[in-house]
Amino acid sequence: MNYLSEFPQLGFGVMRLPYLDDKIDMEKAQAIVDEYMKGDFCYFDMHPSYMGKQAEELVREFVVKRYPRDSYLLADKMPLNIKEFADYGKYFNASQTVCGVSYFDFYLLHAITRDVYERHERLGGFRYMQDLKEQGVVRYIGFSFHDKPELLDEILTKHPEMDFVQLQINYLDWESPVICSKKCYEIARKHSKPIFVMEPIKGGSLANKTDSLQEDEKLGASDLAELALKFVASLPGITVILSGMSEVGHVIDNRKTLLKVGELNERERQLIQNLREKITKVNKIQCTACGYCMEDCPQRIPIPSILALLNACGKNGETLQVYPYQKRIYSGYVFNKGTAGSCIKCGKCENRCPQKLPIREYLAQAASLFEKSPTEVKLQRATYKYRTLRDWMKVLQSGNSLEPYFKYKGFGVMAVYGIGEIGELLIQEIKNYKTVRIEYGIDKKAKILVKDIPLVEPDDVLQEVDVVVVTPTFDFENIERQLRSKINCPIVSLDEIIKWCL
Ligand code: SF4
Ligand code: SF4
Repeated sequence: MNYLSEFPQLGFGVMRLPYLDDKIDMEKAQAIVDEYMKGDFCYFDMHPSYMGKQAEELVREFVVKRYPRDSYLLADKMPLNIKEFADYGKYFNASQTVCGVSYFDFYLLHAITRDVYERHERLGGFRYMQDLKEQGVVRYIGFSFHDKPELLDEILTKHPEMDFVQLQINYLDWESPVICSKKCYEIARKHSKPIFVMEPIKGGSLANKTDSLQEDEKLGASDLAELALKFVASLPGITVILSGMSEVGHVIDNRKTLLKVGELNERERQLIQNLREKITKVNKIQCTACGYCMEDCPQRIPIPSILALLNACGKNGETLQVYPYQKRIYSGYVFNKGTAGSCIKCGKCENRCPQKLPIREYLAQAASLFEKSPTEVKLQRATYKYRTLRDWMKVLQSGNSLEPYFKYKGFGVMAVYGIGEIGELLIQEIKNYKTVRIEYGIDKKAKILVKDIPLVEPDDVLQEVDVVVVTPTFDFENIERQLRSKINCPIVSLDEIIKWCL
């Protein structure tokens, strides 16, 4: 089978299978998968964290165990939280084991933005992908992309070994200055890359427009979904179109649409144009994505991307509706940058905004929609703290300490970030070690805390040490991002050290 010419494939995104009483409805989910496998398509797209981290297991149970390996195609992805080269192998092997397969047909670096790309370049991610292909454990390598066309061009120029690219393409984002579907599509075509499409119906939202839009055009939800799919499928060079199908009917409808797809006719073009204009008009936030607001933002918040997401949530009049895929996109946008909730309300962005938008207000709204509530954050903090202490206790009970980690890594002088209860315990523990000492502590409350080590605030000049150990591990990525511009040494979380010692 020549996988890259027998398409366009309707790809099965394993991310929206139905639930029953908070658990996956296994019977219904299996029926959907079986219906899909009956037809002409056989491409399953997953990620270790989809479906509450169950996507890979579901594929193993529904597909791998029940169909011959050469009757379906599997695409999986490298998680985002890679910290060192060894993590690539760790995550890939875990995915292989959970899925129960000796190879993946397609494997992707997931959700590439500028920061994620630079991290993979630094850590050797592209080299690792090529190794996988050479070892025969992956047939085609690629990446999914969420940034500007210029970056896509840069990556595809530098990495011609990438076999394909996965882009967000739908008729609404086609001309969007934030998503830039059309421009990204053109770049991928320029590099002759097969294009795999995600969000062709924008997570279902293009099939779920306001009543007035449907009435005006006399369209039902399935007509709207069909139109959105047809728009994407009629573009030359599209190899796979992903759809997160959650009902047998979705499979049947989507399959029908893709099997008969051809050029859009004049009426369909006009319809798409009308819908695009109407939906764009409903957009309440008139952000032009000029990017001026980000130039001075001390928190590096990706403001235009967040505002575009807020617009996408507001299509039902005043009620903001968030689809799970939008939360995923939000996480990608703010990865290694500032979250909406991290805004310190300095107002610098609003002084820069030519549209005079109340950005701080919008960010507060975004934080409440896309981020955890203060109670959830409290709970999450407590859970992390409990796990840290539990695992640390296990290290001590097995007669070990954390010292071997520092010895092995050659760290003799350290700084501790976060001098709360756990930070204090760590300070006392390190005092017992012979090969490592604490030079100073870093804490937002450095000015009012009294400890027997020197303390500084995160914004102060940070003296170089061998390693900074972060004790508020639940917020490690944000803290690491803040410290990274100020210090060159490794920054590790206490959990990582404890896990190494277990
Ligand atoms: S108000 Fe918030 S978003 Fe605006 S510049 Fe300040 S920190 Fe950044
Ligand atoms: S400056 Fe205003 S219009 Fe420009 S991207 Fe920022 S919020 Fe949007």
